[in-house]
Amino acid sequence: MKLPLRIALLGVMVTMSVTNTFAEDAYQKKRQQMLAEIKQMVEMTKSYTGNVSLDKQVEEAMMAVPRHKFVPPDSQQYAYENTALPISHKQTISQPYIVALMTDLAAVTSESVVLEVGTGSGYQAAILSELASHVYSIEIIEPLGLEAKSLLQDLGYDNVTVKIGDGYHGWSEHAPFDAILVTAAAEHIPEQLIQQLKPGGRLVIPVGKQGQAQSLRILTKGADGEIEQRDVLSVVFVPLTGKH
Ligand code: SAM
Repeated sequence: MKLPLRIALLGVMVTMSVTNTFAEDAYQKKRQQMLAEIKQMVEMTKSYTGNVSLDKQVEEAMMAVPRHKFVPPDSQQYAYENTALPISHKQTISQPYIVALMTDLAAVTSESVVLEVGTGSGYQAAILSELASHVYSIEIIEPLGLEAKSLLQDLGYDNVTVKIGDGYHGWSEHAPFDAILVTAAAEHIPEQLIQQLKPGGRLVIPVGKQGQAQSLRILTKGADGEIEQRDVLSVVFVPLTGKH
């Protein structure tokens, strides 16, 4: 290669890398703003949720995951607004505050094996992946699940396994789970999910019919297997579908 051409190519590469760094910085700033809004909402809702603040590691996960990669290209400019957004197949990526709250309520640690029902865009799975040992995620809409699976792989979230199926039945091969998060509203808590929860584990799930009041519920299984439940907050989720 002739010298002037090599210099010209080097110039293009330097420009591209400066542009990428600039874009990443801009996203970092937007994530900071998003986190500030989430923290405000946590403060405003603490009397309902009982959560006065988010765990530091949950905050770090919210700062680390590039939400703009999980939304459709025409919504990327809104990716860091604290709001739910439409994705394909009439589904939604949940509001960042709800993602952070559900993750916090699930009390995930680096030892945790977590089940998520409702992979959707894969964003919640990516957040959980930052905190947990392994995340198993089930999506009922095949093209959506396959898209999320490939995106999570491309982004290097190697501790996430996605399968297509009806998450109502859980994933018995990998049970018991330290935490289970359901990201679609069920009319009742599926018994199999309770069975697949470890003693000491937590299940976080929106409960209620579509178009009616739904409540984010946290179910804890004591070391002796005793179940306790608490309604945390009014929420709006797409329904848990399937033939169950
Ligand atoms: N967690 C997702 C994210 O981070 O983008 C958002 C999930 S969206 C609010 C709910 C998802 O649950 C949809 O993708 C929907 O197809 C899926 N879903 C609904 N019923 C389901 C079921 N029975 N089993 C598995 N997934 C289900």
